[in-house]
Amino acid sequence: ILFWVAAVQLGLVVLVGGFGTGGGERDETEAWLSSGHDEATRTENAANAGFSFAGGLLGLFDFRYTMRLTQRINHHYRSKLFGRIQTLPMTAFDDERIGDAVYRVMYDTPSITEACYRIALTPPGALIAIAMAVGIIALTFGDHPVIYWTGLAFAPVALLATLPFAGMLRRRHGEARKAGATTTATIEEGMTNILAVQSLGGHGREKRRFDRDSWTSFGRYRGVVLAAMLAFLAALVPGVALAATSFLYVTDLVIEEQISVGDFTLLFTYFTQILIASVDLGALWIRLQGAAAGLNRVFFLMDLPGEADSAEGQQISGVTRGVSLDRVSYTYPDGTQALRDVSLDAPVGQVTALVGPAGAGKSTLAYLIPRFLSPQQGQVRIDGIDAETLDRRSLRSQVAFVFQETALFDETVLENIRLGKPGASETEVRRAARMAGADEFIGRLPDGYQTRLGRSGGKLSVGQKQRLAIARALVREAPILVLDEPTSALDHETEGRVVSALRQAAGEHVVLVIAHRLSTVRAADQILFLESGRIIERGSHTELMALPEGAYRRYVELQTRGAA
Ligand code: ADP
Ligand code: MG
Repeated sequence: ILFWVAAVQLGLVVLVGGFGTGGGERDETEAWLSSGHDEATRTENAANAGFSFAGGLLGLFDFRYTMRLTQRINHHYRSKLFGRIQTLPMTAFDDERIGDAVYRVMYDTPSITEACYRIALTPPGALIAIAMAVGIIALTFGDHPVIYWTGLAFAPVALLATLPFAGMLRRRHGEARKAGATTTATIEEGMTNILAVQSLGGHGREKRRFDRDSWTSFGRYRGVVLAAMLAFLAALVPGVALAATSFLYVTDLVIEEQISVGDFTLLFTYFTQILIASVDLGALWIRLQGAAAGLNRVFFLMDLPGEADSAEGQQISGVTRGVSLDRVSYTYPDGTQALRDVSLDAPVGQVTALVGPAGAGKSTLAYLIPRFLSPQQGQVRIDGIDAETLDRRSLRSQVAFVFQETALFDETVLENIRLGKPGASETEVRRAARMAGADEFIGRLPDGYQTRLGRSGGKLSVGQKQRLAIARALVREAPILVLDEPTSALDHETEGRVVSALRQAAGEHVVLVIAHRLSTVRAADQILFLESGRIIERGSHTELMALPEGAYRRYVELQTRGAA
C-alpha cells in the first residue's frame, strides 16, 4: 500500500504539483507580477497576467492558457477602442488631450478583464472551497454548526462593513486613473511641443509641470490604498468578534476532551478556509470598484456618438457635374458659428478659390465637403445629391483632401504618398510627386523614395511636407480635390508648378483651393471671398478687381503693396 500511495503521489506532483503557498507570487506558473503603486504600472502588469492554482504539468498548461486568455480579452478591447477612436467625428476630441486617450486604450481596458475574472471565478471557487471544508469537518469531527455559521457570517460582514466605502473607493480609483492620464498627456505634449518649449526657455516650467503631475498620480494611488485600508478596518472589528467566537468554541471542545490538542489546529484551519472563501464572496463588490472606475473610462469613449451614417447610404462613383452648397450654416459644438448662409457652386472643370482673412471659416467650409462636419442648416450637394444621404466611405473615396497641417507618418516617402491610394504603383507615385514638385527633393534624400521620415515627418521642411501632401492627394485621382492652403510655404517656382498641375487636374475634376498667395488665387476660374462666415464677394479675378470698394481688391492691394 505504501509503495502504491507513494507512486501515485509522485505522479500527482509531476502532473498537478504542490498546492498552497497562500496566493502570493510563486513560481513559473504565476505572473501577477510585482506591481508598483500607481494604476498604470499595475494595469500594464495585469494586462499580461496569467495564473494557475496548480503546479506541475497541469499548472504549466493552465498558466499558459489563462495568460493567453487574459491577453486575448485585453487585445480585443484595446483594438476595439482604438478602432472606435478612429471613427469619432473630428470635433469629438476638441477638449480632450491625446495622452488621456492613450491611457484609456492602454491602461483602462484591462479593467474589463479583471472584472470578468472576478465575477466568473470568485463565486464558484468560494462555494466549492466552503463545501469542501464543511464536508471534511462533518466527516471527520461530526456536525459543528457554530464553526460553519461563524465562518459563513464573514460573507455578509465583508459585504456590509465595506459597502459604505464602495463609492469612495471607486471615486479614488477614478482620480488615480485620471491623474495617470494627465501625466501621460503631459509627456505627450512635452514631446510634441519640444521646440516651442526650448526656444521659449520653458523647459524648467515644463519639468515642474511634469513633476507635479507625476507625483500627484502616485499620491492619488496612496489615496486608493488609504480608502481600501479604511474598508478593511471597518470589516476587521466584527470579523475579530466572529473569529473569537469560533476560537472559543473549538478550545472548549479541546477542554471537554471531545477532540485532541492536535485536532485543534486542524479544525481551526478548516474554519479559516471557510472564512477566507466567505470573505472572497462578501468582498467581491468592494473589490470590483477599482475595475468599475476603469470600465467607466473605457465606456465613456465607447459611448461617444460616432460619425452618424444613415443605414442605407447611397453609393457614389465618379462626379460629373460638381459640388454645390445651398444656404449652409455651421456652428461648432462650443457655440462658435463658423459659417452663415453660404451658397456656392463648384463645377467640374473649374478651379474655385476661397480667399479671406484668418478665422473666416475657409477650413470649416472645406471640411463640409467630405462630411468631416455636417451642417446644421442647408445642404451640401454632390452632383445634386444631398451629401448627408450618401454612404460616408463612398463619398470620401471621391475626395482628395490636403489639410492645412500636413500629417506624415514614420514610414518611407513612398508609403506616405501611397496613403492617398493604397496599392498605387511606383510609377503612379512618382508621377504624382513630379506634378507636386516633390520629385527633385525626394531624389536628394539619402534613400530616395525609400527614406523613412521619422516622427511626424520631422526631418523635412514645411514646404517639403506640403509637397508630399499634395502628391498624396494627386495620386488619389479622386474627382474632387480640396486643398487647404497648400502653397503657403512653397517657393514661387514650385508654387507655379503646383498651380499648373491643379489647372491641368481641373479638366475633369472639381478643384477647391484655399489660398493666400495671389499667384495661386489669380489662376482660379472663380474666387469666393469669405469674411466672418459669409461669402461677401464672388467672381473672377478681373471681375472682383473691377469693384472699386471691393474687399478682394483691398486684399490684393495690401498684398502687392507689401511685396513692392
Ligand atoms: P480659416 O480656415 O478661414 O482660418 P476656420 O474655418 O479654421 O477659419 O475657423 C472658422 C472659425 O471657427 C474661427 O472663428 C475658429 O476659431 C472657429 N473654429 C475652428 N475650429 C473650431 C473648433 N474645432 N471648435 C470651435 N471653433 C472652431
Ligand atoms: Mg484654415
